[in-house]
Amino acid sequence: MGIEINKPGSMELLMGNEAIARGALEAGVGVATAYPGTPSSEIITNLGKVAKKMGLYVEWSINEKVAVEVAAAAALSGVRSISAMKQNGLNVALDFLANLVLSGINKGMVLMVGDDPGAQSSSNEQDSRDLAKAIDIPILEPATFQECKDMTKWAFELSEVISNVVMLRSVTRVSHARGNVILGELPAEKNRAHFDTSKKYRGIGGVAAGLHQAVHEKSKKVAEIFESSPFNFYSGPEKPGLLIFTCGSGWLYTMEAIRTLGIEGSVGVAKLGTTWPLPHKFIKTNLARSERVLVIEEVDSFLETNLKEFVVDHMPGYHKFYGKTSGHTRPYGELNVDMVMGAIASLLSMEYVALSPEYEKKSREVAAAWVPPRTSQLCPGCPHRATYWAMKDALKKDGRDGVVAGDIGCYAMGVFPTGFSQINTIHAMGSGMGVASGLGKLDIFGFKQPVLAMTGDSTFFHAVVPPLLNAIHSEADVVLVVMDNSGTAMTGFQPHPGTDKGASGEARPKVSVEKLCESLGVPVTKVDPYDMAATKKAFYDVLQDKGKTRVIISRRECALIRANMQLGPIAKMHIESEKCFGDDCGCNRYCTRVFKCPGLMWDKEAHKARIDEAVCTGCGVCVGVCPQSAIVAEAIK
Ligand code: SF4
Ligand code: SF4
Repeated sequence: MGIEINKPGSMELLMGNEAIARGALEAGVGVATAYPGTPSSEIITNLGKVAKKMGLYVEWSINEKVAVEVAAAAALSGVRSISAMKQNGLNVALDFLANLVLSGINKGMVLMVGDDPGAQSSSNEQDSRDLAKAIDIPILEPATFQECKDMTKWAFELSEVISNVVMLRSVTRVSHARGNVILGELPAEKNRAHFDTSKKYRGIGGVAAGLHQAVHEKSKKVAEIFESSPFNFYSGPEKPGLLIFTCGSGWLYTMEAIRTLGIEGSVGVAKLGTTWPLPHKFIKTNLARSERVLVIEEVDSFLETNLKEFVVDHMPGYHKFYGKTSGHTRPYGELNVDMVMGAIASLLSMEYVALSPEYEKKSREVAAAWVPPRTSQLCPGCPHRATYWAMKDALKKDGRDGVVAGDIGCYAMGVFPTGFSQINTIHAMGSGMGVASGLGKLDIFGFKQPVLAMTGDSTFFHAVVPPLLNAIHSEADVVLVVMDNSGTAMTGFQPHPGTDKGASGEARPKVSVEKLCESLGVPVTKVDPYDMAATKKAFYDVLQDKGKTRVIISRRECALIRANMQLGPIAKMHIESEKCFGDDCGCNRYCTRVFKCPGLMWDKEAHKARIDEAVCTGCGVCVGVCPQSAIVAEAIK
């Protein structure tokens, strides 16, 4: 049973992102778009699954800006739409969004942004609320799974009341955990699209300032609406000794901390589901309960700063605020119940010692004795490991201290030992090629190092084409390496323009990376990274071909795609133990220490390497790694 189950009143166990997708369905969404990014991806994945049945248009767009543009087209034409992304994606979308907010829309449009406190699968942990406030978008923050569904539905209604975009901000723990959700009704009405050409949606022609003023008027109206929101409520004594203001994931941490400390009678909690603009009466009523206010939120001191500003204007000279700026909670990383308990206890002078960082370190050490330590690494048989190995070899042979500009995707593991620490810079989607384009023009300053930019197929389409054009046009001396593994592997194999399927599995035309590059006039070299000798030679040759922009496409499907298709190993691997000298061979376990494929294990008893048949994909890449030729691949007939 999926999120399209039509049983109003029934209770289902849903992941936060599934509940958001269900809320969109209950709101009668017609169009859903996204570029994949943890922790937001499951929303569009789930809507894609039911698209045919529910009459939706769902797409994995080329990037977040295009995703919002496609969703806006629907909202301008009378069809409710949702666009989902992670916090980094909001930066990409912001250019268009800042203008859309001025022109407005005519049907409900929800912008869902999944923030990643602790940067568990991100290159930063920025707080998307700051950007939403900067462009005057109302912010809703669900704290529970039920709220994920209900708030999404309500966000569409609010969006229509103000004819503008509404942001739903979630965090990893809300998006990815599961809880009970009571389902509502699914609408029977079908969406009809029509663009009213008598209307103009634009900011140019000297109207932007007037539109900006109108957006501020709308913000006042939203603040009024928020006064009666059921997502804002107070619990606790009438006059608590300590008042906690909280939102989103902070509310659950706070409630558990209060229960565990047994201080329900002395601490009050004002929970805000609508964090921007602030509902003045609600804030005033609750701030009047206590002069000591602790704010619990993830990631930045967004609510805390806005509350302080409110107090300066409306209730001066009275409150004392605690939170991130006072050092009672931290302005980075995830919060947890223990941290919240520590903050509360210190303000109430209770005898409670929060667990120290040393405790966490010690607990990890104890766990490590039972569970083998595992770092972020490339999978067994990953073609990226082979590409990095060949590139490392070619750069060493080239000897000019090559610089590698990395990008965002599985291949970002090139920063770590599992990708042989090859990457020197890594920032935002597409920035690898942009930085490389700049490095490739430094020859006039005596720069003589070769420059490579690494990207995957999905990132190539998302953000690498413009900097590639830049490099070609500026005649930058750069090698772009496209590691094409046939999907957006890091987030769950979502399709992109280089694949032949859409978001719901429907057939789509495939855009060829090589034809696109060739049409731009750049030389393209294609390699199969599993053919190690040919790949090493190709990398070396392309590096010598100095003075212009050129492309290497290293293509081999992701090892997990092969595994998902239940295709067995390519070859049967074994280690000839008489050839493997193990500890004595002088290689210092080159295969497991340096090459690090998880399919290679160290046999502590035999003091030799061996193949882990449970995970080895038989790609055969490690054959050339052993200086003793002890690793052997037998073809599977
Ligand atoms: S053949 Fe070698 S490199 Fe390939 S998965 Fe097996 S152990 Fe790893
Ligand atoms: S398989 Fe080869 S590289 Fe690995 S330990 Fe044995 S001799 Fe060394």
